[in-house]
Amino acid sequence: MESTQPQLPGSSPDEMFPVLVPEHQARVLEQGRIRKVMSGETLVEFNQLPTKVFVVVEGKLDVFRVTDDNEEVVAVFGPGMFTGELNLLSGRRSLTRIRTAVPSELIEIDREVLISLLQAHSALSDIFLRAYILRRLELIARGVGDLILIGSSHSLDTFRIKEFLTRNYQPYSFVDLDREGDVQDLLDRFQVTIKHLPVLICRLNVVLRNPTNEEITSCLGFNDGIDEEHLRDLIIVGAGPAGLAAAVYGASEGLDVLVIESNAPGGQAGTSSKIENYLGFPTGISGQALAGNAYAQAQKFGAQLLISKNARGINCERRPYMLKFDGQEGLSARTIAIATGAQYRKLPVENLSQFEGVGVYYGATHLESQMCGGKDVVVVGGGNSAGQAAVFMAQTARRVYMLVRSDSLAKTMSRYLIRRIEESPNITLLTNTEVTALAGNDHLESVEWRNNKTREAEKRSITALFSMIGAVPNSGWLEGCVACDAAGFIKTGSDLSTEDLERAQWPLNRSPYLLETSLPGVFAVGDVRAGNVKRVASAVGEGSIAVSFVHQVLAE
Ligand SMILES: Cc1cc2nc3c(=O)[nH]c(=O)nc-3n(C[C@H](O)[C@H](O)[C@H](O)COP(=O)(O)OP(=O)(O)OC[C@H]3O[C@@H](n4cnc5c(N)ncnc54)[C@H](O)[C@@H]3O)c2cc1C
Repeated sequence: MESTQPQLPGSSPDEMFPVLVPEHQARVLEQGRIRKVMSGETLVEFNQLPTKVFVVVEGKLDVFRVTDDNEEVVAVFGPGMFTGELNLLSGRRSLTRIRTAVPSELIEIDREVLISLLQAHSALSDIFLRAYILRRLELIARGVGDLILIGSSHSLDTFRIKEFLTRNYQPYSFVDLDREGDVQDLLDRFQVTIKHLPVLICRLNVVLRNPTNEEITSCLGFNDGIDEEHLRDLIIVGAGPAGLAAAVYGASEGLDVLVIESNAPGGQAGTSSKIENYLGFPTGISGQALAGNAYAQAQKFGAQLLISKNARGINCERRPYMLKFDGQEGLSARTIAIATGAQYRKLPVENLSQFEGVGVYYGATHLESQMCGGKDVVVVGGGNSAGQAAVFMAQTARRVYMLVRSDSLAKTMSRYLIRRIEESPNITLLTNTEVTALAGNDHLESVEWRNNKTREAEKRSITALFSMIGAVPNSGWLEGCVACDAAGFIKTGSDLSTEDLERAQWPLNRSPYLLETSLPGVFAVGDVRAGNVKRVASAVGEGSIAVSFVHQVLAE
């Protein structure tokens, strides 16, 4: 292997650039064909949609990073190696150019045929999928691609665009105006002035001035090639853990599945720096990695995903169901899974996001209690979840400051919890009190609060704050199409009362299935569902289970 082959930490070049054994090459050849090519022939063109994959039998292929006036070899494929990276599964444009370095003999296979082969052949699927994921991570690490973002690290829009690209696994180069004074030439070349920033130079020549996520999606062609007219077996709204799990199970069980996501795959879990309590990952896994793997897995089974597509409603009057988008109807399906999650209410503190996951937490589990052993912590909120967190954290923390905006817990918390709080010597209840500031560097170091009656302020060294001020379900977009509880979480299965079903004019002789809403064939899974335990594992479980009932509805 040539020295140009990159290596990721924790991965070996053999995994990123594996050599297929003769038996596997023969398996690919059964569905492909032999092609002899001259030196210097372009097999994959930069910025074009992928249609073919090549396995080198003899010869050598160069993989180029392309800039507007240059190309640079970033990898080399020798005998037994195959072309492609994650764009092969997603059907998105190629980020590199591939050319023969010498006269070569190749196996050529159509992209769709390869994807079907991977679904049927588990050993090949492991080799290709691992290599494709690792290659994409390497492209991201090296900024190989066709995107240049010019902005300031202190700008919210720059942060939004960076987050959107990162969470959609899109490599980009970042030019930081605060650090690199020498960007005027670049700005002049594209006739950009400071007031247009941040600017995204897309596909090396399209200049987007402070683009919306939709504009970026459209420029990068994320959703190109997805047929929006076609009637699907299952449309999943939301690509968090619940939606992605439903996509993996649905597609792997032969359903025609489309996922709609308003932002990027991964949902809330995608924002978690490390999930330590998800089964099978003893050393934890970042939300981004979990989502990335799940997304690739769903695509391997043939599920499709529309990015930056915000569902605004369901036409619940007719079947098959039609979704609504910004006043228009489109995308029809026999069944729907609503997996739009919830948003934790956020403390109104300016720099909150800086400390989310590194001092500000939305759940108090064993992990956090171990982490906070012998330290002072803050719990904010007056409901039962805040009470449970305070009592639980008091077992290990030195002191728990419990901050409540109202003047007592009586109206919002169960009596038994209030008594436990009163009986815990290391819980200090501070009523009429609000958090006013958070401070720290790469981790939370101090919290400031103020008593709204006395106006007295206090600042303490605190490294963990538990924000328990409730979650708001993302169900408003359904415009009352399905029955919800008082807080707006969607009711399903046996939680639907006779009155709920009468009001919804439930038309069937059977009762709603587990996870089925008051609308037949429409399911709700994950955090958006009433009674759901707000955890990655339960979201994944519900998404998976719902698919078995989707089959039953389709068979009715
Ligand atoms: C910072 C943080 C850390 C966490 N850490 C842990 C942990 O360590 N362990 C654990 O078990 N749990 C953790 N959780 C909780 C866990 O992430 C959630 O329970 C889980 O993500 C819920 O999955 P979901 O798929 O139901 O919803 P979500 O993850 O909320 O995903 C919903 C998706 O739907 C999309 N969407 C919403 N509305 C629309 C619409 N109208 N049209 C299209 N798309 C839409 C959203 O953009 C989002 O991507 C954490 C949560 C946060 C915020």
